Amino acid sequence: MPSICVKPKIAQNDRELFPGAELSPAGFFRLTGFSRFPGFVHGFTRKVEEAGKLKVGGYSPLFLKQVHGDRIIAVEETGAGFSPEGITEDKQVPGDGMITGAPGVILAIRVADCLPVIFLAPEKGVVGIAHAGWRGTRARIVARLIAAGKERYRLAPEDLWVGMGPAIGSCCYQVGPDVQEAFRVDFSDADDYINLAPDGSLRLDLIRANQSQLRAAGVPADQIFAISLCTFCRDDHFYSARREGGKGGRQVAFVGRIEQSVAVEKYL
Ligand SMILES: [Zn+2]
Repeated sequence: MPSICVKPKIAQNDRELFPGAELSPAGFFRLTGFSRFPGFVHGFTRKVEEAGKLKVGGYSPLFLKQVHGDRIIAVEETGAGFSPEGITEDKQVPGDGMITGAPGVILAIRVADCLPVIFLAPEKGVVGIAHAGWRGTRARIVARLIAAGKERYRLAPEDLWVGMGPAIGSCCYQVGPDVQEAFRVDFSDADDYINLAPDGSLRLDLIRANQSQLRAAGVPADQIFAISLCTFCRDDHFYSARREGGKGGRQVAFVGRIEQSVAVEKYL
């Protein structure tokens, strides 16, 4: 495995330790840049949480059957419950992104190295989430999410505040020449985020790749945030599919709009 993975020194100061992020009272990471939006909740769990039992304000998060694709599911309120184009209790709807304008709907994905991307449109009351590994990134899932917001909720890119959670960093995300070639075919700027490491192997920077797509879609740069913590390096906080050979757990990323102040409960 890569040998240049450097563990950050443990600092006393949370801001120093977690650039761009803070730990919530419940123990999740949150983007400090999103604290200005009351009425919305978001978080990125760590491996200390039992994510399967996560509830937010009494609501159970909605999950999809993630397939590393680019399908976005709209989740909309319909009287007695939610009719998210087929989301069911058994969570068997395939897809890798969700969007909703309904309050009290907590959108969630599971990740362990792939990049979790959330967005808020604070003025329009809409939230979205996407699962962006290299396949989803290559399929432009964040652009698909923005397009879904435009089509369904008339969102402009300027309405969006986007946050990227912990994922495997370019320090550790080794990819093969086939992945590099696939990106070069589809993206003129692929060489900006797939680079040679000192040991001669190729590394993909998921955050930069998705930032590029967000900027190309028109999201203002100062409305894009990221938590630059590598899931592979930071085994003190995160599961990593690569580090654990796919046998470990996964983190949960979630986002929703809650009309009153609510607690995020780890266990119920
Ligand atoms: Zn790393």
